[in-house]
Amino acid sequence: MTEISIQKTTRPGTMPDEDKLGFGTYFTDHMFVMDYQTGKGWHSPRIVPYEEFCLFPSAMVYHYGQAIFEGMKAFKTHDDRLVVFRTRDYLQRFNRSADILCIPNTDVDQVQEGLFKLLELDKRFLPGKLGTSIYIRPFIIATDPFVGVKCSDTYRLFIILSPSGTYYAQGFNPVGIRVEDKYVRAVPGGIGEAKTPGNYAASLRAQVEAKHEGYAQVLWLDGVERKYIEEVGTMNIFFKINDELITPELNGSILGGITRRTVLELAREWGMNVSERKISIDEVFAAAENGTLQEAFGSGTAAVISPVGELSWKGKKIIINNNQTGPTAQKLFDEVAGTQYGTLPDKHGWVSTVTKL
Ligand SMILES: *Cc1c(COP(=O)(O)O)cnc(C)c1O
Repeated sequence: MTEISIQKTTRPGTMPDEDKLGFGTYFTDHMFVMDYQTGKGWHSPRIVPYEEFCLFPSAMVYHYGQAIFEGMKAFKTHDDRLVVFRTRDYLQRFNRSADILCIPNTDVDQVQEGLFKLLELDKRFLPGKLGTSIYIRPFIIATDPFVGVKCSDTYRLFIILSPSGTYYAQGFNPVGIRVEDKYVRAVPGGIGEAKTPGNYAASLRAQVEAKHEGYAQVLWLDGVERKYIEEVGTMNIFFKINDELITPELNGSILGGITRRTVLELAREWGMNVSERKISIDEVFAAAENGTLQEAFGSGTAAVISPVGELSWKGKKIIINNNQTGPTAQKLFDEVAGTQYGTLPDKHGWVSTVTKL
């Protein structure tokens, strides 16, 4: 494997106040970069200062959106290690997204090595409080200077790091969600299961309308019948009805979350009655009316578990679990966060130590 070269910054930044980090605003001193060219493959892996870079205005990514990304986190454990969670699973999904967007696959080991070197170099940016992390954003863009629709012959991969506070300003409190009945996010046969920018661009106007009505997020229904539940904003969704923990099955238009997988694995281990199946919005509203809807929560890397306290659909509203965090959401959050921050044992081999601090 090619040696990763390192060019250190001559202008080191300062670590912001941990309590004012917010999410996605600050970036560390360096980034990992690698290039691709047809015939040559991925080449020139390197760590360089985090700074602006040049592309021609004709670069294909600007015009046709051929791009993918990932989102994962590094944590500081109570015994002063920098650890990452299920990195290989995220990097394998990166390749799955690459397949969908006709972007050449990367070598998981090589990208992971680049990530670990980058984290080691910028470890002083790792915040320490519970709920804080370094958010890791790998992405690939199509760089051919060519205006015309085709697969690019050149690409650039980046990994950038963002020291982050807790994602939801309100903390671990239930959020209100608006069920979207006009717009759709993805359809079967489309690109809904890829982490690709176009899916997020497509979600913006629904998000704006939900915010306008005072809701934090949008719950997407299926694109054909507007009947079956798909997912929330940037999270997968779970419902607990009559002691059955239900999440929509992966059908090609839903993003297969790593946190979703973690939740399913834990809940099955705990002996819960777990289903990956179609679930309609009518079923959820009926369960709320007959008193069998116990909990609802989103799952995603950013917040791990995000309890849902209210759903609004076509002007009807339901309040879930008295707008309180339910026991299943709490237990899952405690288990995952405890594993990530090292206060609970890593029973599944999900955690890798990158470096001592
Ligand atoms: C990233 C993402 C998720 C959650 O996936 P995780 O791997 O758990 O972070 C769910 N839905 C969408 C649309 C996403 O982009």
